Amino acid sequence: MDKTLRMRVGVQKSGRLTDNSLDLLHRCGLVYSRAPDQLICYGENMPLDILLVRDDDIPGLVIEGACQLGIAGLNVVEEHRLERLSRGEPGGLEVLRNLGVGQCRLCIAAPEGVAYEGPASLEGKKVATSYPFLLRDYLRRNNVEAQVVVLSGAVEIAPKLGKADFICDLVSTGVTLAANHLREVETILESQSVLLRTTMEVPVVSEEWIQRLIRRLDGVLQVRESKYIMLHAPRAAMKEISDLLPGSEAPTVMPLEGRPDKVAVHAVCPEEVFWETLEALQSAGATSLLVLPLEKMLP
Ligand code: ATP
Ligand code: ZN
Repeated sequence: MDKTLRMRVGVQKSGRLTDNSLDLLHRCGLVYSRAPDQLICYGENMPLDILLVRDDDIPGLVIEGACQLGIAGLNVVEEHRLERLSRGEPGGLEVLRNLGVGQCRLCIAAPEGVAYEGPASLEGKKVATSYPFLLRDYLRRNNVEAQVVVLSGAVEIAPKLGKADFICDLVSTGVTLAANHLREVETILESQSVLLRTTMEVPVVSEEWIQRLIRRLDGVLQVRESKYIMLHAPRAAMKEISDLLPGSEAPTVMPLEGRPDKVAVHAVCPEEVFWETLEALQSAGATSLLVLPLEKMLP
């Protein structure tokens, strides 16, 4: 394979997005070797290499074309876009897919005991954040004048240190906020990991692989929640049982040798299958229930 036609995908080197990004690429069939401290992992069976970098650098690397693809949090992508807009530069990025991992939200949080009655409570106050462009954009949209204190980390301790009245930071479980006696009062952005690409032209060979990777990724994303259900059902209860199978349009129904009153039912359920659903199926007469994970699915 011509080395110049290889693609690169930017992935966070070490952090919350690293394992799930690499796992997604692996599930798309990419085989690569990874040595400690190595910055590039070479794909062994696709013309796709992984560039391991800080997540904040990924949008820029994709815009510059150093990577044709990238996986980063929407928070980082949006911050970068707003920063470029503020300089009058065009976006240069396209979000191809939401990856359903790395979920978090960019929130405004107030110290315990500090009153908050909506964005107007921020007027004239200091708000500490690592996301100044997203925060300023939010303040502007709400006609609030506040002082944005830019910190690169440890934002949650800014109020305690007297550096800010409020903070604007990423939250997933809220445990860190609670540990710092802060409470969430406003959500500025709902975020998750996204697959990005450059809007610049790429060579035909790369474009083919980008499309192929996206199709595989769709297959992976589609089956992530999906399950394959198998059960035995009384023929008479088939209508009720079909209705109970979550999201499944047309289950496969097969005869059972020597049991004219019963059938075997197989169905792909494109949603999570809860215990409650299985219990309801049982109550409707289903027996021998099996729920299997799916690995790959193509239309
Ligand atoms: P580096 O810049 O060195 O790559 P980082 O400290 O910016 O690392 P992480 O803390 O690993 O990065 O977070 C990476 C991304 O994970 C965030 O940008 C965000 O999209 C996502 N994320 C999910 N949950 C959280 C959370 N609770 N706090 C921070 N980020 C979260
Ligand atoms: Zn970062």
